[in-house]
Amino acid sequence: MDRMSLNSRRKRASHAARAAGVDALLVTNLPDVRWLCGFTGSSAALVLPCPSPKSSRPPARAVLFTDGRYIAQAHAEAVGTQVVIATKPPLTEACEWIASAAIKRCGFDQTQTTVAALANMRKAVPAKLRHSLFVALDPLVAGLRQIKDADEIAKLRAAAALGCKLFDRILTFIQPGITEMAVAAELEHAARLAGAEGMSFETIIASGERSSRPHGHATMARLPRRGFVTLDFGVLLDGYCSDMTRTIHIGRASAEERNAYDAVLDAQETGLAAVRAGAITGDVDEATRSVLRRAGLAQWFTHSTGHSLGLQIHEEPRLAAKRTEKLKAGMIVTIEPGIYMPGKFGLRIEDTVLVTRSGCEILTPSPKAWIEL
Ligand code: ZN
Ligand code: ZN
Repeated sequence: MDRMSLNSRRKRASHAARAAGVDALLVTNLPDVRWLCGFTGSSAALVLPCPSPKSSRPPARAVLFTDGRYIAQAHAEAVGTQVVIATKPPLTEACEWIASAAIKRCGFDQTQTTVAALANMRKAVPAKLRHSLFVALDPLVAGLRQIKDADEIAKLRAAAALGCKLFDRILTFIQPGITEMAVAAELEHAARLAGAEGMSFETIIASGERSSRPHGHATMARLPRRGFVTLDFGVLLDGYCSDMTRTIHIGRASAEERNAYDAVLDAQETGLAAVRAGAITGDVDEATRSVLRRAGLAQWFTHSTGHSLGLQIHEEPRLAAKRTEKLKAGMIVTIEPGIYMPGKFGLRIEDTVLVTRSGCEILTPSPKAWIEL
């Protein structure tokens, strides 16, 4: 991670924290820690002091508390951050440090802190600070993470491009009679060889009647001679997630299957056309849904249109009915309408896109035209 991006993220977080009325932030959610200081280990508490610009004290550096397993890694990754190798639980030591640093109000993310963790935080500080020091805040770092910086966009672009490459490759592997698990294994093996740390979520390979399950993880079911195969998968590359879905058909399709595919593709492309900075998330959802409504298929579209992604596969904002957030340039979102008819078939088409001022850039340009193998 380059120091400039990390400095700029910490600066924005400090600013937001001051605006929320605190003079430090305690961050324990691992993706937030990674985003702020570059550290990728599994044990961490990060303190980000944010003194007022008017204060006579020089702006203090962020302090990362981790444990002895991560000595080398923390120093290598957390550039521009002070590293403390804790002998007690890192969260406890972080709280002791906060109390000793004369911080008066320390914000924490109430959606990422358990009741037990909060009790431990309070136990770690002197009794007189117990009820005034820690301030529950709404997710502040997660809010900043909604807009991706240049470094993140480059990484998400690379992850999405790898996903596309894997999809092209898997098409030559798919044939009737092989198991869904074999398709997933081939895909995941190739992802690893190409440098992925892993998959960004459990690979969905849903074939034949199983395609009517929106989250049909690969099973030992064999691909049919005739029917849909939905492939929804993503890699984890350099910490960032990719996410794409394509649905192909093996053998000759019925008119009903073909019409359903055309309607979902139309919905997906209409959704893409609705994405731009300033668009309301709920309106993008309505754009895809209304196409399927006109086709008489809306009752089978049983999930929302899309989600944001980055270090995590599901981030805010979601593109769902009645949501009112505005899309902003630099957000990365999916557009993924689908229909699922129990006992019959289902299909979904999903792209990941970068929101721009005038529209969006598709990061997963694999073909979406009807594929009949
Ligand atoms: Zn997906
Ligand atoms: Zn998705």
